[in-house]
Amino acid sequence: MLEFQLVLKSSQKITPNVLHLSFVRADGAELPCKPGQFLTFLFPTPDGVKRRSYSIATISGKTTETEIAISYIIGGIASEALFNLKVGDTVTATGPFGRLVLKAEETPARYILAATGTGVAPYRAMLPELVDKITADPNLNVLILLGVQYRADLLYCSDFLECAAAHPQLEFRAYLSREASELHAHEYKGYVQTAFAELNLDPDHDIIYLCGNPNMIDAAFAHVSELGFIPKNVRREKYISSN
Ligand SMILES: Cc1cc2nc3c(=O)[nH]c(=O)nc-3n(C[C@H](O)[C@H](O)[C@H](O)COP(=O)(O)OP(=O)(O)OC[C@H]3O[C@@H](n4cnc5c(N)ncnc54)[C@H](O)[C@@H]3O)c2cc1C
Repeated sequence: MLEFQLVLKSSQKITPNVLHLSFVRADGAELPCKPGQFLTFLFPTPDGVKRRSYSIATISGKTTETEIAISYIIGGIASEALFNLKVGDTVTATGPFGRLVLKAEETPARYILAATGTGVAPYRAMLPELVDKITADPNLNVLILLGVQYRADLLYCSDFLECAAAHPQLEFRAYLSREASELHAHEYKGYVQTAFAELNLDPDHDIIYLCGNPNMIDAAFAHVSELGFIPKNVRREKYISSN
């Protein structure tokens, strides 16, 4: 896959620990992708080039601008590089890659899209496609679940709430593991995977997407496998560093 340069157009802190970055290609070319895919960034280090992947969060289907959300890891190679990037700086990237995408041909009764933290970025990118799907199919429901520690950590919350308000077939729930204050209507206490016990999951008609923290994904996958879900209907993307 060809490498290309991305130029930083803007950077914005959207939670205490997450930066939203918007890039364009330095050569002016478009960067078409399927909602749910990711880019891999290349960082030169004294130990060789390190590769780090980031889900494309762009909501609008725009192919000229590419947005990502990065969570800061103290001392992390990509974290330090991207959190210190200035508007106009460039990074080398390749992609898009990934199979955490919606499939045109399938007709589940319900999509359950569960994430921790920045793992919700691909679901933000999928919003227009999800709206198209629920508009075409009045029997389809979509449930987006986002797990974080505190309300302040909820990234892209307004995008999901606005979409849910406009489309009753789409619901957004936030799971807050450490929030002490009173919960809002869309908020639930605990880890995101605790939701699975209360959703009347149906292995024959539900399709599940899991994205983000590997521990959450393993726990959720073990739970739904016991309920009879086959791996094909539980799509997983674990946020780990490649090298
Ligand atoms: C397909 C894919 C998509 C991804 N999309 C995103 C995305 O959209 N947003 C995003 O923020 N990340 C995403 N990631 C994770 C990302 O690629 C990096 O792994 C992450 O940013 C950490 O990289 P780093 O170089 O800053 O830290 P590293 O240099 O890799 O790690 C530094 C230290 O922190 C530890 N560490 C690494 N990750 C974590 C963690 N999550 N929590 C605690 N300690 C950790 C490491 O073990 C190491 O000791 C994705 C990963 C994959 C595979």
